[in-house]
Amino acid sequence: MLIDRYGRTINYLRISVTNQCNLHCLYCRPRGRAYALPTGDELTFEEIGTVARAAASLGVEHIRLTGGEPLLREDLPELVRKLADIPEITDLALTTNGQLLAEQAPDLAAAGLHRVNISMDSLDAERYHVMTGGGSLERVWAGIEASRHVGLEPIKLNVVMVRGYNHDELPGFVRIARDQALHVRFIELMPVGPAAAQAKALFYPAAEALRQIEDLHPAHEGRPGPGPAQVYRVGRGTIGFIASVTNPPCPACNRLRITSQGKLRPCLTTDLEIDLKPALAGPEPEAAVGEALRAAVAVKPEQGLHLTQASQAFTEMCQVGG
Ligand code: SAM
Repeated sequence: MLIDRYGRTINYLRISVTNQCNLHCLYCRPRGRAYALPTGDELTFEEIGTVARAAASLGVEHIRLTGGEPLLREDLPELVRKLADIPEITDLALTTNGQLLAEQAPDLAAAGLHRVNISMDSLDAERYHVMTGGGSLERVWAGIEASRHVGLEPIKLNVVMVRGYNHDELPGFVRIARDQALHVRFIELMPVGPAAAQAKALFYPAAEALRQIEDLHPAHEGRPGPGPAQVYRVGRGTIGFIASVTNPPCPACNRLRITSQGKLRPCLTTDLEIDLKPALAGPEPEAAVGEALRAAVAVKPEQGLHLTQASQAFTEMCQVGG
């Protein structure tokens, strides 16, 4: 078991499989901004499998593949197959922008992926195109349909709330959750990377969001899953709020992250990291990675950086894996 200094059980590993992305979301990697993202040197599938097995042997049950855009990583189903073979992993999920999902969903499901989270910040094609720096909303809907068809469910939609861009769309998202058995998660914009400079103007708090949709009668269910969302039932689906800024989920944090270059991060918003490459290159990689996981948990901070103070001190979201 991995239990940290503050009594939190760590059972969730988020693995970034690439830091490359095919979209330019305005708060994450807008067009024209210079990046210092490392390229090359990504962990191999063999290495990611070793990390996952080491984590599973220490009590990790939930794995999420993310990025960058994970569907850009070549032969991703091959990795999914490796991870799905680990008996302790009971929940194997993927976060994607959905642009390439329609084509890949069947192979991912056949390889053993359980479910998907799809980022979809607007229900309006033109707005979606603007917010994502060129994305196609039609492709996202095709990805949702394909995922449903092959049983990659429950399907969650991630909506980062951005004042002036999509904050008036919440009722529409509640309706699609209710009518189409979807699970929408409204996420507060975190002042990291490009969002830091404009955080004040763009921020839309969860409490205001909840007030906006109150007359659609959401029924509070608490925090039912491994994630940080406060969840409400609406018809056949759910909505949830992830108030990362106004009510940070740190006291219940159960996760570790690894970047695509093999840096183990005990906290999303603190730039502590442990390089797994030396452990992976040694004679007993699984045992050495296990030690590194214990070391990361031992230094896991009680709280992340105070997110109400905009900070660019830590790595970009597309590098750490959101
Ligand atoms: N490319 C995939 C996608 O779009 O879902 C996975 C990586 S993306 C970095 C993961 C999630 O982080 C997305 O839902 C994205 O909207 C969210 N995200 C990125 N920057 C954020 C920020 N500053 N605040 C809150 N969420 C953010």
